Amino acid sequence: MVCPYCNKVETNVIDSRKNSDGHSIRRRRECSKCKIRFTTYEKAEIGLLVQKRSGEIQEFVYEKLYKGVESAFGGLDLNEKQLKTLVDNIHNVIKEQGIKVKSEFIGETVLSHLKEVNKVAYLRFASVYKEFSDASDFEKEVAEL
Ligand SMILES: [Zn+2]
Repeated sequence: MVCPYCNKVETNVIDSRKNSDGHSIRRRRECSKCKIRFTTYEKAEIGLLVQKRSGEIQEFVYEKLYKGVESAFGGLDLNEKQLKTLVDNIHNVIKEQGIKVKSEFIGETVLSHLKEVNKVAYLRFASVYKEFSDASDFEKEVAEL
């Protein structure tokens, strides 16, 4: 940890203690050059977790969501900025669920957003996501639009 006052690279930890909730550690540090003391906090960074249908839990990967939505729009009229905004909107809804979200919820959220933006992209995503067993399912979806 660099000294925030003189930028000296070496600072010594003179005291460290857990916060009462146990979720962070507070450290008192002293700069070996200017002798000033300051406090740092150490916290674990938790990413969003996704629970798959199989029960398996994985870390949420934004790029995967982005790619999934992007491929649904392949060849359709949507620029990069619009795509990013759409994916970010979906991501915000997902994040509101807390630290763990079911993969079905992500799928449904993507679907409801795509439905608003572009029907073709919606059907493409739905056909992959819902793993339609035969063409009649697909026709049913189209009829419901
Ligand atoms: Zn210093």
